[in-house]
Amino acid sequence: MENIKITRRGFLKTAVAGAGAFSLTSGLLDFQKWVHASAGAAVTSVPTICNGCGNRCGIFAHVKNGRLWKIEGNPDANGNLGVICPKGHGYLHDLYNPNRLKGPLKRVGDKFEPISWEEAYKEIAQKMNLILLANGPQSIFWVNYPQTNHAYALRLMHALGSPHYFTHGSTCFTARNAGWATTVGELPSNDLSHSRYILIVGRNPAGGIDLGQVKRIAEAKEKGAKLVVVDPRHSETAILADEWLPIKPGTDLAFLLGMINVFVKEGLYDGRFVREKTVGFEQLEEEIVNYPPEWAEKVCEIPARTIVQIAREMAKAKPKALIHRGYHGAFGSQYLNSFQTARALAIANSLLGNINREGGIYFPQSAQLGELQPDHPAPDLPEMGKADGTGVPGRYPLGSYGDGIAHAIPELALRGELKAGFVYHNNPLRTNPNPKRVIAGYKKLDLLVVIDTVLSETASIAHYVLPESFYLERTEAIDTKHSGKRAQVSLQQQAVKPLFDTRPGTQIIIELAKHLGVGKYFNFDIEEANRLRLRSLGVTLENLKKKGVLFVGEKWKEGCGKLNTPSGKVEIHSSTLEKLDFPSIPRWEEPLVSPDPKDPQSFRLLHGKQAIHTHAMTANQPYLMAISQRYDMIRLWMNRERGVRLGLKDGDWVQIKSMVGEGKIRVRLTGGIHPSCVWLPSGYGIFSKHLKTAFDMGLSYNDFLPTYFDPTVGHAMSSEIVVQVTKA
Ligand code: SF4
Repeated sequence: MENIKITRRGFLKTAVAGAGAFSLTSGLLDFQKWVHASAGAAVTSVPTICNGCGNRCGIFAHVKNGRLWKIEGNPDANGNLGVICPKGHGYLHDLYNPNRLKGPLKRVGDKFEPISWEEAYKEIAQKMNLILLANGPQSIFWVNYPQTNHAYALRLMHALGSPHYFTHGSTCFTARNAGWATTVGELPSNDLSHSRYILIVGRNPAGGIDLGQVKRIAEAKEKGAKLVVVDPRHSETAILADEWLPIKPGTDLAFLLGMINVFVKEGLYDGRFVREKTVGFEQLEEEIVNYPPEWAEKVCEIPARTIVQIAREMAKAKPKALIHRGYHGAFGSQYLNSFQTARALAIANSLLGNINREGGIYFPQSAQLGELQPDHPAPDLPEMGKADGTGVPGRYPLGSYGDGIAHAIPELALRGELKAGFVYHNNPLRTNPNPKRVIAGYKKLDLLVVIDTVLSETASIAHYVLPESFYLERTEAIDTKHSGKRAQVSLQQQAVKPLFDTRPGTQIIIELAKHLGVGKYFNFDIEEANRLRLRSLGVTLENLKKKGVLFVGEKWKEGCGKLNTPSGKVEIHSSTLEKLDFPSIPRWEEPLVSPDPKDPQSFRLLHGKQAIHTHAMTANQPYLMAISQRYDMIRLWMNRERGVRLGLKDGDWVQIKSMVGEGKIRVRLTGGIHPSCVWLPSGYGIFSKHLKTAFDMGLSYNDFLPTYFDPTVGHAMSSEIVVQVTKA
């Protein structure tokens, strides 16, 4: 490992000053020379978007003499309200990181050799066209972590006739989205700052950091709101809470059913809302008698009196009371019962009458960008369905067609159904379950092209690697991510010249399309496309370039109109689920696997983010890794009493073993975790030897997770892991 020494004083100075971006190694740009040459130089400010994680916060990049000086938050941006997190400050230093890719690469035997862009495009196109000819368009795919330019990646796949566009959704949020969509028609937001009572179940916005949400929670608390956090671990958000309820993992559904039972039995729900805006309350009344709080206590280990107390307090604060809509944890994609948990959570919110109400759950305003047609006609949609079975009855009927089931790609490759693929801003070898199987699947492909900024695990096995410019070096597609009480558009703009022979992602997509023979759908550049897509919104690209973010469209209005469900109402009873033969009213469902309560070495393995890392993307960032090490953060959390029973002391090395993997890590003994589980911070366990700072530091939960597909949505069920933990 490359050791970067950084003093506490030096680090704080850097962070507080807005992270002046200096080079950690010599050879790229000489910091000392630059400091002298830059004294007194003018500072240019470029509004742009941080790419340190999927939040895409609005920032200003300040540049001196062509070199990045610092970044600051854009106060107008809905998502971060002017602040930046440690990951954002740390990640910008990767602009000058020597581990970056410096030009296109081609695999020759076991090694990579440099290749020109033109040659790389020609060879990729030749090979891809042969594969298309022999196997048809259904044999190729594209997978990415969603980027602003994902619409152009989708366009490329459609132009080539393939339906196989995937995101990371099946390992992250698809169960949550499907649960909300089945119940209220779409995924809503939380009106945190106006709420008087916030209940968060298995979501950690202060760790899997969402700056806007943390600020809004703090605002609500300053006004007297109560915050209750239900989480097996004392998370960063639990630190902010009035009450932390350490639930037994995998049983959030039981807790919610117990709460719903109290709402119904004690008549605490909003009767008018239920009468006018929901269907299926009678069926719920019949089913919910089975789940009194005393039953829930036995399953989820939260006392019945606490469940009753929370239900009563929330009912008193309604409709300015909400249960957070969730993300990855508890019901995003982690358990067999995640989909039903999301349904129960949506129904519990509805009983509070808080749907599209101030201080409750609301439907955000989103910017609807215009199309490129008629100027640039779109390709026809492919007729064939997705090979992963999303949206197909009998397979994963509630799976998200738009996201697909990306962790099925290795299976499809091993079966010979997928032959070639593009991986963009994604690293499935590290972020998908069961890496041995993922490696086998991706290695089976006849052609693998990876577009990235570093030689990640996935890039390391590619046939071609196309280097993307770092986010501060490129202008990208208009972003509409920051929905809210008023919609926003934002723009990622180039702040500094590319240091190496790299290209922006959209340019790579357009150039690939031209070489692959579908250039007629890509007769534009990103400047023209951005201008065309803004046309209908009444704002100009010039103004957006100046400000970085602009509000568009109407302001949000309170009130629950016709919903996007078959009945137009909140579907407590779902006719869709009834037709598919799934439980149409939420009912208790056990997790798929559970640790053996009699075995002292048996635990459920949980995972979650730390506020300084993003998936596997930032572990190689030397400053962020320095924080991980300084604060001894790369450890497995274990309940202290259980650890002592295993003869462990805080900091001891332990061996973790599941049915698919094993590894060693140091243990953190703490009272802040439920005894039935251990918790592993995600983002570590890097095994690409090219990522020298992060290589072999910590473990990833994916090393222990078997390959699962939930039967409703197809999600990865990433907390359905039982491990044996022993002293190493
Ligand atoms: S949350 Fe942090 S890393 Fe993510 S986009 Fe915002 S500033 Fe960047």
